[in-house]
Amino acid sequence: MDLAEKLEILADSAKYDVACTSSGVDRAGRRGSLGSCSAAGICHAFTPDGRCVSLLKVLYSNACCYDCSYCVNRRSNEVRRATFTPRELAELTIGFYRRNYIEGLFLSSAVLGSPDNTTERMIEALRILRQEYRFNGYIHAKTIPGTDPRLVEQLGLLADRLSVNIELPSEASLQLLAPDKEKAAILRPMGQIAAQSAQSRRELSVYRHAPAFAPAGQSTQMIIGATPETDFHIMRLTEGLYQKYSLKRVFYSAYLPIVQDRRLPALTTRPPLLREHRLYQADWLLRFYHFSAGELLSEAEPNFDPYLDPKCSWALRNPAFFPVEVNTAPRVALLRVPGIGPKSAGRILSARRQQHLGMAELKRIGVVLKRAQYFITCNGAAPAHGTRREIAGALLDPKAFGVGVQQLSLDDFAAKPLPEAAPLVHELAGQGMEARQAAELVRQEALSCLTKQM
Ligand code: SF4
Repeated sequence: MDLAEKLEILADSAKYDVACTSSGVDRAGRRGSLGSCSAAGICHAFTPDGRCVSLLKVLYSNACCYDCSYCVNRRSNEVRRATFTPRELAELTIGFYRRNYIEGLFLSSAVLGSPDNTTERMIEALRILRQEYRFNGYIHAKTIPGTDPRLVEQLGLLADRLSVNIELPSEASLQLLAPDKEKAAILRPMGQIAAQSAQSRRELSVYRHAPAFAPAGQSTQMIIGATPETDFHIMRLTEGLYQKYSLKRVFYSAYLPIVQDRRLPALTTRPPLLREHRLYQADWLLRFYHFSAGELLSEAEPNFDPYLDPKCSWALRNPAFFPVEVNTAPRVALLRVPGIGPKSAGRILSARRQQHLGMAELKRIGVVLKRAQYFITCNGAAPAHGTRREIAGALLDPKAFGVGVQQLSLDDFAAKPLPEAAPLVHELAGQGMEARQAAELVRQEALSCLTKQM
């Protein structure tokens, strides 16, 4: 099999992995080395379901000895198999880099015989890249659960970011769908990477030539919608991962049905992209807005509202917290106001040292007044009074009712629900209703329900 054929197979096999960004490390070009590493990201491509993901992504091998039922590369699936040699992969990466196709490498792999065997080969490929070709660009490498800690250490000294995929949100789901994987085997390398990264940072602060271990930290990915866990369960797990293992990112991947299996959603099931979007919004709230999972959801209300972003939902459930006086409130209180983000909160704090802020100043600062105006006061006065229906209308997330033309052929100009529109909009459109009409019907229904709740 020639190299182009291997690349075609192994790049195609890697496209389901979304835990791939180059954020978190900046490294200028070095004399005698090839490439630099900027936080701008490697290249991007669109997956078949319309999402934008980062490339160059390849698997070292797709010849897997595990049998995870949701995966195209599982051993029981009949697909074309390919495996690079370490030198092939290194030369391919350098060739692409020199042609300006890519700025970095995202390397994952199926389990080729055993985790140790696979990791040894990945290490050799990265060693050739880093030491023989003096490649100084960004490398993100997957750590395979069950790999010997000494190999994980070697991998971390060659890569900028490591990630260990948690795959499914609970041990029960892992046992059901990925019987070769264990939760403990996934968490062990995460703990090792967290500890060694922290140690490496301490050493680098004392001695700047100390070897850097995974300087861009670690991330993970979990599949959403293949198993029955609630958003609350997923958020609590995410919160624990951030706290315990200092993860940079948790990526959520809406399950794309590609496998016919009675334990999995039917092949006709739409990937839950709106749910994925809500989880990313909530994840942002955990990391940058000082929210906890328990504030966003509960056992009684375990899933996010499809029509409201999680911050608006929280604001509606906590009317006693509002209004927030923008001229005196601390940063954490400002961050709880719908329409105020970390940037605008920072600008409010610095601007109000010079003057009292009113609506005009807040608009200039970048506050989304359409939403914020119902939750703030400026110098004691409320900037807007709306009926419950008006407030509900301002808070509904337009993404849930998105309709547009996504041309799949030259004569296809019909408007369709956008991939992240609410499931009900897709359902009505699927039953033959015109897409804009379906979206408007669902919007009016959501508006009435929300107005009644307020
Ligand atoms: S370990 Fe599981 S998820 Fe990973 S490639 Fe093999 S079958 Fe797929």
